[in-house]
Amino acid sequence: MSESCLFCKIVSGAIPAGKIYEDDQVLAFHDIHPQTPVHALVIPKRHLSSLDDLQATDRGEAGHLLERVAHVARELGVADAGYRTVINTREHGGQEVDHLHIHILGGRRVGPMVSR
Ligand code: AMP
Ligand code: ZN
Repeated sequence: MSESCLFCKIVSGAIPAGKIYEDDQVLAFHDIHPQTPVHALVIPKRHLSSLDDLQATDRGEAGHLLERVAHVARELGVADAGYRTVINTREHGGQEVDHLHIHILGGRRVGPMVSR
């Protein structure tokens, strides 16, 4: 838990979110500014600042997180048509919230992967 972290505050319930899925390790909720008809964020409950914080000892947790992304996408009804998953890391990656999160973008065909 990082006191100043927005997503840790969502995990603790201090800030409300449109929760989609939750277990002891993972939370999924709707992005507050959806870029596609379906736009969810899946996060580890444990504070990790970015993908770059992941260690070899976190492999089990990371595997669970990724499997739950697929589960949430299916629950949201976008799995068959397909969806984009995105992880932004630090400044050049466009990361705005410094708590590891995986975007699920679906509900329409998503455009080119990298905007110029
Ligand atoms: P990123 O640029 O990868 O760090 O993405 C951060 C995402 O968090 C953006 O898509 C924001 O719209 C989303 N976001 C910011 N604040 C909230 C919030 N309170 N609840 C849900 N999503 C949020
Ligand atoms: Zn956090």
